[in-house]
Amino acid sequence: MSNTVRLFGMKLDAVRMPEAIGQLVHWVHNPDGRCRYVVTPNVDHAVMFQEHIGLQRAYIDASLVLADGFPVLAAARLLGRKIPERVPGSDLVPALFEMANAKSTSFPLRVFLLGAAPGVADRAAENIRQRWPAVSVVGTYSPPLGFEKNQRENAAILERIAAVRPDVLVVGLGAPKQELWVHTHRQQIAAPVALCVGATIDFLAGEKPRAPIW
Ligand code: UDP
Repeated sequence: MSNTVRLFGMKLDAVRMPEAIGQLVHWVHNPDGRCRYVVTPNVDHAVMFQEHIGLQRAYIDASLVLADGFPVLAAARLLGRKIPERVPGSDLVPALFEMANAKSTSFPLRVFLLGAAPGVADRAAENIRQRWPAVSVVGTYSPPLGFEKNQRENAAILERIAAVRPDVLVVGLGAPKQELWVHTHRQQIAAPVALCVGATIDFLAGEKPRAPIW
């Protein structure tokens, strides 16, 4: 991505939603064998980032770093650096689905939903099927507590993903777990794109009301 803004040690991509979506679509259509992943920092993540070397490493290897909230935009502006708009993960995912649906014949999108409490991703999948018929949810999985420390469990998750080879892996494990998990396993994730997007699966399932726009 061309235009980056340094803020609190993070390197943010100064892009608008359509540009971010265009980039994701390009990666889906042009896989190059690796899993490119997206992180969407808000202020809490920026604070965590300062002391967390693992998270800092995960951010370095991220292919897109998108400002999730207005406070991040405001902080950038105070420092004289411009990020054109916020691109929260919870908007990015529906916008990507919308794009796939609008171009359904040329862009059928296969997604895997990883994370959220048991049953939530399946409810999200049902809502996605109804709202965006061009999007196929080819897998869902809610990992048990502490799964990230269990090698057998990690291998099983990677196998589930590899068995269906989605275009996009939606990862909703909360920060920093989702960023660390994707970073650690990025060489084995059989998807061209992974999106680390917090509670987005809950939103898609209608489980949680969205935060107010401000
Ligand atoms: N979550 C999960 N496994 C875990 C921890 C969290 O699936 O071990 C899910 C949780 O159910 C919720 C999401 O991760 O769907 C966390 O969303 P939150 O908005 O808290 O994300 P954050 O703001 O921390 O990125």
